[in-house]
Amino acid sequence: MKSASSRRAFLKHAALVGAASAAVPLIGQTPAAKPASAPRPEVKITDVRAYVVDRAILVEVVSDAGISGWGECAFDGGVLMKTFVDQLLKKEIVGRSPFDVRKLWDWMFFENHDLGPGGALPNAIAGVDLALWDLKGRLLNQPVYNLLGGRYRDRIAAYGSVPVRRGRVSVEDCVKSCVNFVQQGFKCIKVRMQIREHYLNPDPDPTFAYVAAVRKAIGDDIAFMVDANNGYSAQRAIATGRKLFEKWNVAYFEDPVSDQNLAEMAQVTAALQDQDIVAGEKCYTRWQIKDLMVIGNVDIVNPDVVKVGGITEMDRMATLSACFHKPIQMHNTRPTLSTAASLHCMASTPLVARFIEYPEVGTTFEGLMRLFHNRVKLQDGWLHVPEGPGLGLDVDTRAVRASAKPV
Ligand SMILES: [Mg+2]
Repeated sequence: MKSASSRRAFLKHAALVGAASAAVPLIGQTPAAKPASAPRPEVKITDVRAYVVDRAILVEVVSDAGISGWGECAFDGGVLMKTFVDQLLKKEIVGRSPFDVRKLWDWMFFENHDLGPGGALPNAIAGVDLALWDLKGRLLNQPVYNLLGGRYRDRIAAYGSVPVRRGRVSVEDCVKSCVNFVQQGFKCIKVRMQIREHYLNPDPDPTFAYVAAVRKAIGDDIAFMVDANNGYSAQRAIATGRKLFEKWNVAYFEDPVSDQNLAEMAQVTAALQDQDIVAGEKCYTRWQIKDLMVIGNVDIVNPDVVKVGGITEMDRMATLSACFHKPIQMHNTRPTLSTAASLHCMASTPLVARFIEYPEVGTTFEGLMRLFHNRVKLQDGWLHVPEGPGLGLDVDTRAVRASAKPV
């Protein structure tokens, strides 16, 4: 992205354009003359580039103001994501204004929705959409949360998210990761069992051994969430949820059944009144999240900003969640732009749950973190909403280009 001098030049131009309307009358005073309208500063998108790097897919939206914005797609199908961006999305936005982000989202989505309204298409759109919001913020020298209506909060408690991979991560290693989070000040832990629909109702169920060992290690004061990753039928989920709550005080139960089967989800939610049922990471559109809330009646929705097509669609989901009084708790598996965008969304959303998901950085994401000049501030288990312009993370452009995989 270009330097602060590019932004200064852009802002100077914008200020000159807006000067004619600077004299705004106070309430009760009659304006001497109708203020001249301030035309929107001219800026056009000139290019869109997708980079497949280790453990992330990054997108750069380049403008003729000499400033770029950066976004991130969900991390699945690197080559596929790049193809979507290069072949389908780029042509919808080059030559247009980055300020028209909602209109550009509609064009990217509805011109391509026969390729699938869920999954690859919104995952790819998310990378471009995040970059557009980042670009808008950088052009206006404002953090994204200010463009979303301002903030209700400046930090959000993170929960440490630990994968089990159907037993490939040992109980001992899982416990180690959970304890590591607690030692960093996290107040909530989630163990992801990753059972999935095609391993439905495992017998014996490894969940209980992991949960018993983790609860013993982290003590009674840490909130505990178990993610079944859609691995049970309704009847089995109800029995499992009750046992998890009664024996180990698991207060949050995520994706107990398939979130494609909303009738079963509603059965589980009705039966498990003591626990909060969390779901929504596989909802990609406002219509899917609406059905999850209305038909599935889950307690907390957890859409993922890099899967739902980005901040634009997430903002629509936030409005819906306020309509149905369902708090949002962002699903988030990447510590970089995904985390930053999630924080801007949660900062500006009235009704949110207590936590945001955060992965263990460890050695897994160190290489990715080195592609950025700064990081999201994490202190005592709290993630702080970035204050810089745009999403608030500064990409090391040279490092990204150097480490991009040839595809
Ligand atoms: Mg999950």
